[in-house]
Amino acid sequence: MDFKDYIRVIPDFPQEGISFKDITTLMQNGPVYQQSINELKKMVEHLQIDVIAGPEARGFVVGAPLAYALGVAFVPIRKAGKLPYKTIQADYALEYGQDSLAMHADAITEGQNVLIADDLLATGGTIATSIHLIRQLGGNVVGTAFMIELQDLNGRAKLPDVDVFTLTQYP
Ligand code: AMP
Repeated sequence: MDFKDYIRVIPDFPQEGISFKDITTLMQNGPVYQQSINELKKMVEHLQIDVIAGPEARGFVVGAPLAYALGVAFVPIRKAGKLPYKTIQADYALEYGQDSLAMHADAITEGQNVLIADDLLATGGTIATSIHLIRQLGGNVVGTAFMIELQDLNGRAKLPDVDVFTLTQYP
């Protein structure tokens, strides 16, 4: 299946020059959404994953079903100020804009194997920051998984020491 057939591309959103890859259309099709998660599962099930971590918000709609399919834990990585308990926090730059990510201080225990899941790899800033937070908590990042990779932005260069698994790629 070509998942691109189900991803809607919106030019100049949220600002001029950004070609936005909209996965809501993929998720509106139940069997296609299910297959996308099943294919990601096949790519990562050889890893000894204890926990999947997903950055807000689209990392939840990829990471949580993947965690369910694998029978492993899911922990959220959220924008600063959203999590109710003690947190650790780090700043990062987006393809458009800047932000802060946070995790609960007890989300991961020392030595756990963590896979990070998100909808899309662009510049890699979000995931590099997520890796930083997870390692700070003592987690071992065993890989990263995305529905979409934007190859020209070369996000992989920001993730030199982790495996990257992607379902579909755009230039
Ligand atoms: P980055 O940190 O640059 O790798 O950006 C990744 C995050 O921003 C992902 O969580 C995406 O949801 C979002 N994002 C960045 N660029 C795009 C894009 N062109 N289309 C859709 N989402 C994007």
